[in-house]
Amino acid sequence: MRNIKDYNLDELKEELVSIGEKPFRAEQIFKWLYQDRANTFDDMTNLSLSLREKLKSNYTLGDFKILRKLVSKDGTIKYLFDLGNDNAIETVLMEYHHGNTICVSSQIGCRMGCKFCASTGIAFGGNLTSGQIVQQLLEVEKDTGSKISNIVFMGIGEPLDNYDNVINAIRIINNPKGLNIGARHISVSTSGVVPRIYDLAKENIQCTLSISLHATNNEKRSSMMPVNNMYNIEELMKACKDYIAMTNKRISFEYALAKDNNDNLEDAKELVKLLHGMLAHVNLIPINSIENGKYTKSTNENIIKFRDYLNDHGIVATIRRELGSDIDAACGQLRKKNLKED
Ligand code: SAH
Repeated sequence: MRNIKDYNLDELKEELVSIGEKPFRAEQIFKWLYQDRANTFDDMTNLSLSLREKLKSNYTLGDFKILRKLVSKDGTIKYLFDLGNDNAIETVLMEYHHGNTICVSSQIGCRMGCKFCASTGIAFGGNLTSGQIVQQLLEVEKDTGSKISNIVFMGIGEPLDNYDNVINAIRIINNPKGLNIGARHISVSTSGVVPRIYDLAKENIQCTLSISLHATNNEKRSSMMPVNNMYNIEELMKACKDYIAMTNKRISFEYALAKDNNDNLEDAKELVKLLHGMLAHVNLIPINSIENGKYTKSTNENIIKFRDYLNDHGIVATIRRELGSDIDAACGQLRKKNLKED
C-alpha cells in the first residue's frame, strides 16, 4: 500500500483519476491531510463512503510512532520516530525569535561520509519518501500543538542525494492547499552535489540553498568531506555562482570551525577571496565534537575573530547559536542510535 502523502497535488489528481474518481477529490483529500489534519480516512466526511473505503484499502496515512522525545534545557526538542521495518529517524524542533524551525531528515543515514558528522558510520538505510519527510512536520505540530514557520533540511541525510523525494516534499509543504509554508522559509543544505545544484536552480522553487563549505582549499576540504574528491571547490563555486545568476538568490555558506584545522586567519583570508563579490552569507558553526572524532570546537575568541575578519572584509557572517547540545541535537550530532540501546 502506498502512503497517500507521497503524492503532490498534481500527482494525487492523476492517481484519483486512475482509480475512477474526479480530480477535485484530490483537493478535498489534500485539505483533509494538511489543513484539517485528519487522522483517519473515516474523518474525511465530505467523501462518499465508498471512496473512503477505497482509500482505506489502497493507501496508508503514513503516520509515525514517537519512539523517544528529548527536551533540552533551551527548549529544543528531539524526536526519534519509528518508520517500521526496524528503521527510525530523528527530527529536531528549535525555537528562534523568528518562529519555530524544524530540522528534518531526508535519508535514513547518509552516504556522504563527512569526517566530522555523527551520521557518518551508521548503516545507510535508504531514502525517505516525500510522505515521510512531510510527516515529520505533521507529527511535531501534532505533538507540540505549535505552528512551524521554518523548515531546514539539515537533519540526517544529504537532501540532494534524495533529490526527487525532497523536491516533491517541498512542493507539498509549499503548496497553499498543502502545508502552505512559503518557499523563503524552506532551506535545503548540501555538502556539494554539484549536478543537483544545477537541477535545483531550474526548479523554480524559491527556497534557500545552503552549502556546507567548511574549508577553502581542496586539500583541507577533501580531508573533511570526501564529496570534495568528486566535485572539487572550483566546480562547487562555479555551480554556486551559476545558481545565483540563474535564481538571483543569495546562498548561505555553512562553515563549521574546528580548532587548529580551519579556524585561523589564513582560512578567513581564503574564504574572503573565494566569496568575493558573491551574493552570499556565511553561517559560522562552532563544530560539535562527535564520538571518536578528531575535530574539536574552536575557542570563542577565534570564532569571534574569524567572524570579524569576514565582516570587516565585506562578507556578511554570523555565528550560529548552539541549540540542543545537551540532548545531542546540535548540528551534526543527530544519530540514529540502535533502538535497543538505553
Ligand atoms: N547533508 C547536508 C545536510 C545535513 S548536515 C549537508 O551536508 O549540508 C547539516 C549541517 O550540519 C551541514 O552544514 C553539516 O556540514 C553540519 N555539520 C555536520 N556535522 C557537524 C558537526 N559535528 N558540527 C557542526 N556542524 C556539523
